[in-house]
Amino acid sequence: MPQVNAKLNAFPVFVRVEGEAVAIVGGGEQALAKARLIEQSSAVLRIIAQNAEPDLLAFIAQSGASHIAAVYDASQLDGAVMVFAASGDDTLDRRVAADARRLGLPVNAVDRPELCDFFTPALVNRAPVAIAIGTEGAGPVLAQMLRSRIDRMLSPSFGRLAALAASFRTAAERLPKGNIRRRFWSDFFGGAPARAIEAGELSRAYEAATDLLLSNAPASGHIALVGAGPGAEDLLTLRAHRLLMEADVIVHDALVPESVIAMGRRDAERLAVGKRKGCHTKSQAEINALLVELGRQGKRVVRLKSGDPLVFGRAGEEMAALRDAGIAYEVVPGVTAAFAAAADFELPLTLRGVSSSMVFTTGHDLKGNSLPDWAKLAISGATVAVYMGRSVAAEVAGRLIEAGLSPDTAVAVVENASLANRRRFHGTLADLPSLEARADLSGPVMTIIGDAVAGANFERSEPLAAHRVAGASVAAEGVQP
Ligand code: SAH
Repeated sequence: MPQVNAKLNAFPVFVRVEGEAVAIVGGGEQALAKARLIEQSSAVLRIIAQNAEPDLLAFIAQSGASHIAAVYDASQLDGAVMVFAASGDDTLDRRVAADARRLGLPVNAVDRPELCDFFTPALVNRAPVAIAIGTEGAGPVLAQMLRSRIDRMLSPSFGRLAALAASFRTAAERLPKGNIRRRFWSDFFGGAPARAIEAGELSRAYEAATDLLLSNAPASGHIALVGAGPGAEDLLTLRAHRLLMEADVIVHDALVPESVIAMGRRDAERLAVGKRKGCHTKSQAEINALLVELGRQGKRVVRLKSGDPLVFGRAGEEMAALRDAGIAYEVVPGVTAAFAAAADFELPLTLRGVSSSMVFTTGHDLKGNSLPDWAKLAISGATVAVYMGRSVAAEVAGRLIEAGLSPDTAVAVVENASLANRRRFHGTLADLPSLEARADLSGPVMTIIGDAVAGANFERSEPLAAHRVAGASVAAEGVQP
């Protein structure tokens, strides 16, 4: 086992490069990679290459870097603040490194750690904020993995927020030191100014920060209605993930998987508010009141809903309550169950020449005599996704057939869409009633009906009809014309 040295052998620092020359010796891929890295700064790039390859030439033309197209000579390094030996030619790189050292210039030789005075990090750039990752040779793959993880955590607008913070520094220094000043900054980075920047509204961000500074008021709360996706945790959006990590309180439904709820901060409060069929933990009115109350307390709340929050999620009522109470909120979309189910079935929801519209519906509006509008759309060829449709499967099939949809219309059913334990079933509208009697389906179920379903992949699905139980089979036959 190699010795683990808990001390860093290369210590990270940030080098001032604004307006300074950085010399890169080399005309190929290695030189181009370094040039691209340094181009993220305001240094003046000097590329020394007698024979630059086309890609590097294109880069030089587009970036405005200076190009010395001559045989290498040590005098070309004059005045640079750092030097890269990136020619890919061992002898030349050694010579460049030796020259730089003689001139007192820090040098990096590509793929030659023993010749390097410094190493270049994997970089997360949110200028003016930079996160540099170094691994001292443990490997570029590790560094890139860390880089992409950190990149995902930081909003793309993070740099603009940091720049705004810099412009408020002097003013904030006038606040009393300690709690009040700390509170200002935490409300600045976690509250209204940050949200306005994220929405691309710079002047509103400026106003919000000024308000915070002047009024010294406690931060107003904020509720994010966030779609948690259909179940698989990696179908969560990056924005949802970021908000989860910032939230003081996470209010979630029963269908939201534990692994998603766990993504919040360890000290975040987690509140389960129902709802599973038949066991409502809290009424909708109680949930609305809870969100308003948390907002009034100045909490940053993530209200997690399965799938997309605006699809059968009662978000309309929650937004109305928040609006009435004057609490700020936003909506973060998620992958709705119909999309996850379609993906699991490789099912085209719209299909050229077959179906050009789709309906998100629930079977629960079928009571009464009149046919809902969506049934008419189904008959005219729309693909229909039925949410919460298991217990009304027979009603849905019966009414559609009655209304004129062929009993042979293709149907796809997915239980636990997107999850490892998903189950797929296929059949026709005539088979659909069998769903109601199945005791073996305990997860959420999505039903998709329409001619476009015929374009799905049925290799991994079981026929619905094979599972007809006596009662359901009668019901199914009952709807045959
Ligand atoms: N807002 C959610 C829907 C909530 S209604 C969304 O956009 O997906 C709850 C219904 O969604 C369930 O009865 C079921 O029909 C469907 N559903 C949710 N998750 C599902 C999943 N993983 N697989 C299949 N259906 C699902």
